[in-house]
Amino acid sequence: MDVAIVTVGDELLAGDTQDTNSTWLCGQLTERGVQVRRVTTVPDEIGEIARVVNEYRAEYDAVITTGGLGPTHDDVTMEAVAAAFGREVEPHEGALAWLEEHGGYSADDLVAGTTNLPAGARMLPNEEGVAPGAVVETVYVLPGVPAEMKAMFQLVADEFSGDRTYTTFLTTPQPESELIDLMVTLQETFGVSVGSYPGENVRVKVTARDPETLEDAASWLRERIDVVEGPEVSETA
Ligand code: ATP
Ligand code: MG
Repeated sequence: MDVAIVTVGDELLAGDTQDTNSTWLCGQLTERGVQVRRVTTVPDEIGEIARVVNEYRAEYDAVITTGGLGPTHDDVTMEAVAAAFGREVEPHEGALAWLEEHGGYSADDLVAGTTNLPAGARMLPNEEGVAPGAVVETVYVLPGVPAEMKAMFQLVADEFSGDRTYTTFLTTPQPESELIDLMVTLQETFGVSVGSYPGENVRVKVTARDPETLEDAASWLRERIDVVEGPEVSETA
């Protein structure tokens, strides 16, 4: 399963807020064996959001957006997602019923538009806040506030799955320049994917489709580089 993430908000593009939502979602999706193919940040503008959502829903199995769900003037994501599908937004009865039952709100308490969702959307209740999220076909519309976003993602997490993979990290003090040929040979010989992350040391990430291949590949590499710590093997469902 290939997924794209779209984070929405002028404050992200201005550098006022760090986009931790996409990093968290990338981790959750990767753990589930889903390939995240894009992370894109767009401003609070209907046209910009709709254009990217439309492109990505055509290209990937699912799209997750975060941000811009509240009732304030700059919260336009629902309208934008509706536009991407050529639909209108309309009051969602289930959303109002959920807020009446769980939040003690009446329609009069809520700022106009709070329960407006794209026509035909599945409503996702906001257990940590007010504004509901939505699923429109393969597009998942989540809030921006991290606690709200995380709680809402859990409601749909099982809808994201992929092939199980196995990963190990090896850490080496050798410079990346010394590793280049080995990485290429490792990939070609074992059919694994290899990532190289320089820092004080270089962390080499090896990912395989089965544990035997991973162990063979890691052993091969351990014989050829200096390893300072690891490996820890992790499994992705
Ligand atoms: P609200 O109903 O509170 O308006 P919302 O779903 O409309 O929520 P935003 O207005 O886009 O969300 O963002 C609300 C707050 O959530 C931001 O001020 C910021 O602190 C945080 N936030 C939004 N997007 C992100 C993100 N990608 N990563 C981390 N924090 C974020
Ligand atoms: Mg908002």
